[in-house]
Amino acid sequence: MNILLLDLQDQGDNWVANGLRAITGDGSLRVAADVDAACRLLADAGHDCDLLILCDEDNERLLGTYSRLASAGALPPTIALIASPSLDSAIGLLRAGIDDLQMLDVGNAWQRQLPDVIAGLMRRVHERDKRLRLDAELRASQQYLSQIVDGCSVAMFVIDSEHRVTHWNEACEALTGIAAIEMVGTRNQWRAFYDHARPCMADLILDGGIDARVAEYYGSKGYRRSKTLANTYEAEDFFPNFGETGRWLFFTAAPLRDGTGTVIGAIETLQDITEQKRAKEALRDSENLLRQIIQCSSVATFVIDRTHQVTHWNRAAERLLGRTAESAIGTRELAKDVYEHDRPVLADLVLDGADERLMDHYYSGLYRKSDTVAGVYEVEDHFPGLGENGRWLHFAAAPLHDDAGRTIGAIETLIDITERKRAESLQLESERRLTQIIDGSAVAMFVIDAEHRVTHWNQACAALTSLPASKVVGTNEQWRAFYPDPRPCMADLVLDGAMEERVAQYYGTKKYHPSQVVAGGYEAEDFFPTFGSNGRWLYFTAAPLRDAQGKLIGAIETLQDITERKRAEEQLRQSEDRYRVLSITDGMTGLYNARHFAQRLRDEMDRAERYHHSLALLVLDVDNFKKFNDTWGHVTGDQVLIQLAECISACLRRTDQAFRYGGEEFVALLPEADLDKAEAAAERIRSLFARCAIMPAPDQEVTCTASIGVTTFVAGESPRDFVARADSGTYEAKRQGKNRVIRIPPPPAAA
Ligand code: GH3
Ligand code: MG
Ligand code: MG
Repeated sequence: MNILLLDLQDQGDNWVANGLRAITGDGSLRVAADVDAACRLLADAGHDCDLLILCDEDNERLLGTYSRLASAGALPPTIALIASPSLDSAIGLLRAGIDDLQMLDVGNAWQRQLPDVIAGLMRRVHERDKRLRLDAELRASQQYLSQIVDGCSVAMFVIDSEHRVTHWNEACEALTGIAAIEMVGTRNQWRAFYDHARPCMADLILDGGIDARVAEYYGSKGYRRSKTLANTYEAEDFFPNFGETGRWLFFTAAPLRDGTGTVIGAIETLQDITEQKRAKEALRDSENLLRQIIQCSSVATFVIDRTHQVTHWNRAAERLLGRTAESAIGTRELAKDVYEHDRPVLADLVLDGADERLMDHYYSGLYRKSDTVAGVYEVEDHFPGLGENGRWLHFAAAPLHDDAGRTIGAIETLIDITERKRAESLQLESERRLTQIIDGSAVAMFVIDAEHRVTHWNQACAALTSLPASKVVGTNEQWRAFYPDPRPCMADLVLDGAMEERVAQYYGTKKYHPSQVVAGGYEAEDFFPTFGSNGRWLYFTAAPLRDAQGKLIGAIETLQDITERKRAEEQLRQSEDRYRVLSITDGMTGLYNARHFAQRLRDEMDRAERYHHSLALLVLDVDNFKKFNDTWGHVTGDQVLIQLAECISACLRRTDQAFRYGGEEFVALLPEADLDKAEAAAERIRSLFARCAIMPAPDQEVTCTASIGVTTFVAGESPRDFVARADSGTYEAKRQGKNRVIRIPPPPAAA
């Protein structure tokens, strides 16, 4: 340090100079005894003076000296040593610009105090030097700061320790709409943001104690300490006056310090984060929506993020997996809920790209790629540890992507399919049982589903149709078993519900009828010429099959070979016919018998009466037959009776009917014949019979005759009267000599 001492009192003892020299060493001290010498030394370019010490005991003179030196040129920091201090002169010196004033009591302790005073002076000079250097640095850095601030695209402003705006950069101008020129030098920074005077964050920072005051201005949530910058605060706020609909600003404020750490200002930066905010809000909205969707879904759902941490866990998942959302969210150990050991779950594997090797390792044979949604994998598995008896779960996982297509997580849904599985196995069981029942049945039957495909074709059916189940089950070609060309079977018609309209087309009108037993069922019989060696008769029934809800799900058809029954029926019918013929036929003559005559007589009388037609009746009796029998024997007598029957039949029309009435008596009914025609017919019989010879022995010929009574019916009369009148004709013929025909005209018709 170079010191210039101007000691106006130097009396040669120079004790001040000596005191200084003792501290600073010779080289740095120059001593002047008058103002001119001091001016010369100060002007000496080679001598760089750091400190000027003025020393005098006369205050007024000291002040004058300083003024002369000051007018002569730039002064270094100056310290005055005043031997006899007075307050007025001290103030005067300070006003004159003397940096420091060291007042000494020249009296007692002057000499003793001097080293300490000098040391103090030196210290001050050092400090001042340092301050000056720092000031220079600060100026430089302020300039640098200015450039940074102005060149920065982030809006920012700087205030000094007096809260005056020192910088207001272009970005800040653009953001706030206020020019730097209006703002710099003022304390009006608030105008840019608020409609009333209040501190900005930079102001609060500058004043210190921001923590105590920031809540007042920014609420408790609006600000925070920066995580990255020491002493920096951050806040977000909405400024309704900015832009058209207000803007969100993110602003930070940090103190500016000089080299000593003293706060000398503050800088505030402002960023328009409106778009970011809106995007975030939109994201939050959609996140919320997602959360709600997941939460409200009755399907157990959880989501993991890209680090495999659970982010969503809905109520259904809580219920199904027995773990609360609280304990699940944030964890990565899901497997232990459902597996006994730690392992990835499906969502983990899908998140990692569903590596085939890993999928095979963990879900061998259980997983499949979804047919409908790309990237989705599905698994059905049984978890013995879940619930009381274990649960069957169907779970599906899919990766979640951001807009750029990056995988950001995975979602997994889980459905408890235990009941379905149980039902399936029950159904399988009942299916198996049904198949056994159907297969074990001796009745041929087949079942078709709602699509007309054969689902069952039992062994009896295979045997009956010669078509094995393997050829027909799964197809809809059941017709092949029965018909040469495609056509619906009865089961098909029943299934289509088109029985009534279409059955006539396929089964005729008489062959089918609705089942008496099964609602919606039908029965029919038909002859299938291609079955067996000579064709077979089948009796077949078809009935609809319905599920528990009553929905039509198929139809069953049963087939019975009724060929034998049909044949037996036919035989029975034939024997019945035979019996009926026998029962009305006279065994010996082949004519109808007396019983049948009673029946036919009534019928013909009714007809004649109804249609007003005539009806004739003949009564015939063999003449002298007792004697014939006696003469030629009973067997020959029988031959005579047979002969007469043949003669009667030969002489009657097809519509006439002849009966053996008893022993050797016959009657004949001639519908539509009047008395003349009947008489003529009777005469033909009499004459033919009389000419017919019987040969009781090879060389003998005999003949017989008959007496015949003829009459016609009178409406209203009884059968007895009608027959009695004809009979009276026969009687009359006998009386007149036999072998003749006697006609008895009917009495006039009853009124
Ligand atoms: P008439 O001319 O008056 O009728 O004299 P007849 O002998 O025929 O009289 P009658 O009616 O008394 O006799 C009927 C006889 O017919 C009696 C019976 O032996 C005979 N006769 C009845 N049925 C049969 C029969 O089935 N076969 C034979 N060979 N004779 C029968
Ligand atoms: Mg007789
Ligand atoms: Mg007779």
